[in-house]
Amino acid sequence: MNKKTRISNLFVFSLCLVSLFTFGQTTPTPKKNNSSAEDIYYTLADFGRVEKIDAHVHLRTDFDTVFIRQAARDKFRLLNVSVYTSPNLTPEAQENFSLKLIGEFPNIVTYGTTFSLEGFNNSNWESKTLDYLEKSIARGAIAVKVWKNIGMELKNERDELAMITDPAFDSILQLLVEKDITLLGHLGEPKNTWLPLEEMTVQGDRDYFRENPRYHMHQFPDLPSYEEQVAARDQLLANNPDLRFVGAHLGSLEYDVNELAKRLDSFPNMAVDMAERISHLQHQAVTNWEGVRDFIITYQDRLLYGTDLRAGASDIQAKGLTEPEEISEHAHQVWLRHWQFFTGDQEMQVPKVTGTFNGLKLPKTVVDKIYRTNAEKWYPGLRR
Ligand SMILES: [Zn+2]
Repeated sequence: MNKKTRISNLFVFSLCLVSLFTFGQTTPTPKKNNSSAEDIYYTLADFGRVEKIDAHVHLRTDFDTVFIRQAARDKFRLLNVSVYTSPNLTPEAQENFSLKLIGEFPNIVTYGTTFSLEGFNNSNWESKTLDYLEKSIARGAIAVKVWKNIGMELKNERDELAMITDPAFDSILQLLVEKDITLLGHLGEPKNTWLPLEEMTVQGDRDYFRENPRYHMHQFPDLPSYEEQVAARDQLLANNPDLRFVGAHLGSLEYDVNELAKRLDSFPNMAVDMAERISHLQHQAVTNWEGVRDFIITYQDRLLYGTDLRAGASDIQAKGLTEPEEISEHAHQVWLRHWQFFTGDQEMQVPKVTGTFNGLKLPKTVVDKIYRTNAEKWYPGLRR
């Protein structure tokens, strides 16, 4: 076969391919050269057009409606998550505020409830908690959150730290299974928490633990180790295979996509949100871009976009932002930067990460899952 015939054969073969792909269209129209890229990938310009969900935010004051107004402009719905951090901010107060927001912004806000740990060792704690959660679910909560104070602060009646595997939580977990409600678990902390500040891998963690030394576990070598915290969460999942679980903050396995992959393989009813840990994916992408991208594509059904946006977040404080316009612009930039990371392929530098990395250029099908449909699947209350 001479060169000319080979080329013409190639041409016929390409034509066949084109007709294969256009088969089924009633009026085949000539396609632009770049049409396939447009079909497969989003661009930065699509950011404001595509419906998205930020599945982990904390809106607590009237001021925080700046986030909601920005979310409306940027096409986000928000899952507002209650957290029990101290008796000063009760689950009831947070719930009432969420319900008020839902009244004002019914198309944007949904909420997840939590429960008080006050009086944990009293004999009526369990029944009071079950009552509260039943009412909360009846009022529209679509998730229940537990926080790192379980495992790090809460003491049982023997004055030992109570982990999430404590039998006191069993009936609560059972209730969630019966009601088809997802447990959102922020259990443990980033591995950085057990390191000195200067050895932490991302700036966000250095800022947070400088401001919150009581959770900087490096300073408390007698408390449970990182591995013990993760093991308790793994045990929770092994004990409760019917419990639908979303591990907040990449399931506290933010430091290595391979470690997270092992847990997702072991626990089919576990997904994770990325709230406040996208910088850890970016940090890994500096040296292992392909590994991060492969991980997201492999586990595309198990990853939920989230940010942990809140007015008092350490990056907002570090930048000294106080004006509503500044804060809503900050939210917009955070959301936009993440979109650029997941959809684009350009070299990027971000405030929390040392070094440069490229955008992951994930296919639209994967982007739609992590930005919306996974949240709707793992929190069925988000479905429309
Ligand atoms: Zn959070």
